[in-house]
Amino acid sequence: AKGQGTNQAVVFDAGMSVEAEERHLLEKELRKALEQEEFEVHYQPLMSTQTGEISGAEALLRWNSPKRGMVSPMNFIPIAEESGLILPIGQWVLNRVCREMKQREAEGWPPVTVSVNLSPLQFDQPYLVEQIHSVVTEHGLEPSRLCLEITESMTIQHVDACIDKLHKLNEMGIRTAVDDFGTGYSSLSLLQKLPISFIKIDKSFVQEAGASTPLVESMISLAHSLGLGVVAEGVETEEQLNTLRRLGCDFTQGYWIGRPVPLDTFNARFPTGKVP
Ligand code: C2E
Ligand code: CA
Ligand code: CA
Ligand code: CA
Repeated sequence: AKGQGTNQAVVFDAGMSVEAEERHLLEKELRKALEQEEFEVHYQPLMSTQTGEISGAEALLRWNSPKRGMVSPMNFIPIAEESGLILPIGQWVLNRVCREMKQREAEGWPPVTVSVNLSPLQFDQPYLVEQIHSVVTEHGLEPSRLCLEITESMTIQHVDACIDKLHKLNEMGIRTAVDDFGTGYSSLSLLQKLPISFIKIDKSFVQEAGASTPLVESMISLAHSLGLGVVAEGVETEEQLNTLRRLGCDFTQGYWIGRPVPLDTFNARFPTGKVP
């Protein structure tokens, strides 16, 4: 719209195009990042609340951009989803995680269950189950060592197709978890129908859980009554950890236990599977 219309219109158009250009640029860079292996996976420990044992890790994507530095997934996953790039990126993550977990095993470290975040677009792919099956088989990863994290919103639109997928993953021995539990549209009857293994209580509830904890407490008892395990995320203080322990939360995750780090650091920091 250069040189067209009124002054006002030009300003408006310029503003729009800057944003669109930035998106376009980011998308181009993400494509390149994938080709040039600029992505990394960091691992954050999941601790068994009662024993203090490190029993799992959540795989969290990082973009180490030569131009932008370490970019948070919050700043590029939305663009990756809009452009569809999240599909090859998600595939890359699954491959990398399986490979690194086998590498960890080969080095003799105690086994952990690793959780991988799936985007809604990935979960909606009709060939998701086959894709997961082939990546796990290719790397020879024990399927029960893999947990896939989905969000409530992914399960609402096509409930039956979603349940079918979760059943197939279950049959393969793969675990599934509902992430950010409590933030979305949570229908109790839906939760009851979903063949999942865990819920992850969103950090906003965990961090409010000080003296008054009725919400967290009821989420834990709800999950337990459905036979589901509970992970609390975003644990930043000893007080929060103590509260969760008292409430019978199964697993905890958060900066108090450990930040997301590259695999080598993770291995060195948790050599025995216990929090030092
Ligand atoms: P999420 O799945 O809810 O992951 C938890 C986020 O909370 C992570 O942010 C983690 O670093 C952060 N966190 C962990 N402990 C604490 C704590 O004690 N306090 C606070 N304030 N934050 C904590 P991160 O790594 O920046 O990831 C942000 C989001 O990006 C993730 O949220 C997830 O939705 C998405 N994401 C990350 N990796 C992937 C991936 O491989 N694929 C997809 N589709 N999404 C991913
Ligand atoms: Ca997650
Ligand atoms: Ca979460
Ligand atoms: Ca989230």
